[in-house]
Amino acid sequence: MSRSRIAFVPAIAAILAIAFPPLLSAAGAPGASAPSQPAAAPRRTVAVTIDDLPFVGYGLPLAAVAPLSSKLVAALAARKVKAVAFVNEDKLFVPGEVDERIALLTEWLDAGMELGNHTFGHPGLTKTPLPAMQDAVVKGEVVTRGLLEKRGQRLKWFRHPYAQTGTSRETRDAFETFLASRGYTVAPLSIEHEDWVFASADAKLAADHDEAGRARLLAAYIEDFDGRCAFYEERSRALFGREIPQILLSHANALNARAMPLLLERLEKRGYTFVTLEEALADPAWKSADGYFGPWGPSWLHRFAAARGEDVKALFRAEPEAPKWVADLDAARSAAPAAPR
Ligand SMILES: [Zn+2]
Repeated sequence: MSRSRIAFVPAIAAILAIAFPPLLSAAGAPGASAPSQPAAAPRRTVAVTIDDLPFVGYGLPLAAVAPLSSKLVAALAARKVKAVAFVNEDKLFVPGEVDERIALLTEWLDAGMELGNHTFGHPGLTKTPLPAMQDAVVKGEVVTRGLLEKRGQRLKWFRHPYAQTGTSRETRDAFETFLASRGYTVAPLSIEHEDWVFASADAKLAADHDEAGRARLLAAYIEDFDGRCAFYEERSRALFGREIPQILLSHANALNARAMPLLLERLEKRGYTFVTLEEALADPAWKSADGYFGPWGPSWLHRFAAARGEDVKALFRAEPEAPKWVADLDAARSAAPAAPR
């Protein structure tokens, strides 16, 4: 980042050097060999997106979920984050709880967040035929559209479940043409941090009443997040020679209800300010070609790399991974008989 390298006219620099020597050495005066300077964190921007509303409860009852959802919304609002949150409407229709679950969505809107469609039932395009995907879109927009229109807003954003956008160009184009015909803009993402693995591990520790383990997990989670941010910042610099506005994907789960203040604080420490998804996508880099066709749902930075002929599998291998002890806890919870999605 070149912000601190101001090109002084030499004569002015000479005068300033006399008047303010420490200032010039900090700014990197012409001719001065530039030692690695731990300058202030570079100016970065990030849009926050939250998937799987109303909540990924890992078996928690609504009475437990509701305060956690409120806490997550409050953490975002406290830092004036205008997140876009993506709804799976199938999760609303629990007998006896429908109104309360819709109220969880309303809380996001009241806090100034946007809502988008994440389908009814969370099917992945990799294995779901196109007509069924289209049904899941239409069925998944009824309540959300109503909530938005009541406020004079429009349902605009769509996020593919699992970020699966199609294994062939034909499938992708057909689905996205359909989405556009219903007024949707696809919400891409650049930073994902396997928060579901940590959240599942946390749920296992919570079920085991292991509070010390949960504290250890929370610390590991924040450090892991930091490493993932660094990874995608580097990928952006490698692709574009600069850091483009990042788009973070996280999920509405119990771990994030607790960790969101720490995650946001970590982003601020890295020099990020929060922008809307719309503002992030205004950067022309986000119009780059997406060259990934396959079963997975990678970061759009990997998709841009694929369009330039980079080896996507090598990029996948280079991605940071959750520590093994965390992955093992996730596996243990998932293997439990009543493990919810
Ligand atoms: Zn999802």
